Order: sequence, then structure tokens, then C-alpha cells
Amino acid sequence: MPEQAEQRPLADLPLHDLIACHECDLLMHHPQLGEEQKACCPRCGYELVVHRSHMERRALALVLTALLLFVPANFLPIMSLNLLGQNAHDTVWTGVVGLYNSGMEGVAFLVFLCSMVIPLVKLLCQLVVLLCIRTRRARGMGVMLYRLYHHLREWGMLEVYLMGILVSIVKLIELAELHLGVGLACFIALLLAQIWLEVTMSPHQVWDALDAEGSAHASH
Ligand SMILES: [Zn+2]
Repeated sequence: MPEQAEQRPLADLPLHDLIACHECDLLMHHPQLGEEQKACCPRCGYELVVHRSHMERRALALVLTALLLFVPANFLPIMSLNLLGQNAHDTVWTGVVGLYNSGMEGVAFLVFLCSMVIPLVKLLCQLVVLLCIRTRRARGMGVMLYRLYHHLREWGMLEVYLMGILVSIVKLIELAELHLGVGLACFIALLLAQIWLEVTMSPHQVWDALDAEGSAHASH
């Protein structure tokens, strides 16, 4: 009975029955959750675990959507400018090239890394992790890539980039004839897909799935 387990001192419980709060380090009994339920820390209110139904399938659909949006978001015009009769179509990629050509190689490299390379690597990591869980193969690689994904999270800065785009739109709108492009819609859709994906891929469920597969392998 779960109540009995709760009353036993924590020191007597096996490690996998315990969970520590990420925020305040409170150690407690690991809650058993049903579909779409979540458990919060009783001391600080931090979300400890959340159980999403059909997590793999939903996350896989979202990661594929995001990957499909990645190309138009970066290579289709974010906006087109008409200034004194001169027309310019700006994409994320031409922005990077423009920075490079105007002598700001360092900034160009940083923008290229944070707006294109890292978001793409992050998505590919998530895709491979989900495929590892789904096909129950290559668990070691799944663990490694999921860890890499957590390191990269701080570096992909699409939100910051979007803010930059919005600020420049507001500033330019008075100076030139400005048309918003398909690229911007794809960029916003990509950002939303990524946020949704992050909410769907509950880390505890991913680690549990990668771990369960490992124990299954070990027992063979
Ligand atoms: Zn806490």
C-alpha cells in the first residue's frame, strides 16, 4: 500500500523510490503518477515530475514539425525592405552573411552559432533520443545526446533573435516600406513548436525510458 511506504523512514527506502527537489533539495518518496498528472514539491512548489500521455509520439511529431520549419525559417525572407527605391529581402542567413561581409566576423559567427547551428543540433539530439526510446536501441548514445541537449539549452537563443527582429521591425517601419515575409511566420512557428516540444518531453519520462531500456538490456 502506498500509505505504508510513505510512513516508512526515507533511509529504509531503495534509491529508486526517492526523489530530490531540483530547487530546494528536499528528499521525498517518489510519487506514482497517472497520465497527465504532475507532482510539485511540498516545500517550494517546484514541479518535480509530470507524466505526459503518448509522450514519444507527440514529441516525435513536434520535433519533425520543427525540423521542417527550420529551413524556411532561416532561408525565406523575414522581411523585405523598400528604402529609396532599393529593394532588399532579408533572411536569417543573409543577415549572417551581411555581418560577415561588413567586417564583423565574430558577431556573424556568434549569430550563426546561436540562431542556426545550436537550434539544429538541439533538434537533432531530441530526434535521435526519441528514436532510441522508440526503437529501444543504442541507449548509450541516447543518454549521451540527451545530456548534450541539456548543455546546449542555454546556448540556443532563438527567443533573443526574435526579439531582435521585432525591435528592428519597429524601428524600420517609420523609415522604409516594410513587408513581413513568410520566413518570419515560419520562425515564430518554429519557436512555438520548440517550446511545445520542451513542455511535452518531460525529462523524467525521457530518463526513465532510457533507463528502462538499459535495465532490459542488462537482464538479457
Ligand atoms: Zn522544493
